[in-house]
Amino acid sequence: MFLISQYICIPVGDLSTNCYLIYDENRQGVVVDPGGDFELIMSTINKNKLHIKHVLLTHVHFDHILATQEVMDATGADLLVPSGDEPALRDPRLNLIGYTQNRAEINLKADRLLEDGDEITAGSLVFNVLNTPGHTPGSSCFILGDLLISGDTLFAGSIGRTDFPGGDSKIMRRSLEHLTQLEGVNTVLPGHGPSTTMQDERRDNPYMNTTGYDFNY
Ligand SMILES: [Zn+2]
Repeated sequence: MFLISQYICIPVGDLSTNCYLIYDENRQGVVVDPGGDFELIMSTINKNKLHIKHVLLTHVHFDHILATQEVMDATGADLLVPSGDEPALRDPRLNLIGYTQNRAEINLKADRLLEDGDEITAGSLVFNVLNTPGHTPGSSCFILGDLLISGDTLFAGSIGRTDFPGGDSKIMRRSLEHLTQLEGVNTVLPGHGPSTTMQDERRDNPYMNTTGYDFNY
């Protein structure tokens, strides 16, 4: 497949969550996980003259969503959310805002709920939704050509926690097995920390191979 896409990674908020702007050759695109720092996100969108069609959430934890409403209001984008995390759009126990000092009230409404296998289009970009539960019930990766946007499922050398409400280490293991078998994916863009490659993760990430596997945090 011939695909021209570009991305910008903006670490946002107290937990340095990676917010991604991903766009096509006509600068049409999406924002993934606007977790905070609304003004920084908007100035980057404006500076790059991007037209944002959708806000995509990999999952609904506070550090991935706190600037969602503001970005939607400023860009006119709609909100696409994995169906398994829909209750967390309101429930502080699930989105974890209740665990923080932040007293913001989260009350978001999805325009579209995403299921495994769904496609999302923005300009000439077509993302495939891969549900990878474990960190949360709805946690999903988005595949665009050879890019994998992995949220808090897969990090460089590590994986997301499974001890929050709705997390499940056995289900996480299945999701990771699924990811190791993906063909055609090269670059991995995680929800926190540096980007990596699928090849490096298959080789070096203990959760992605058989060198060791311990989910007892
Ligand atoms: Zn998370």
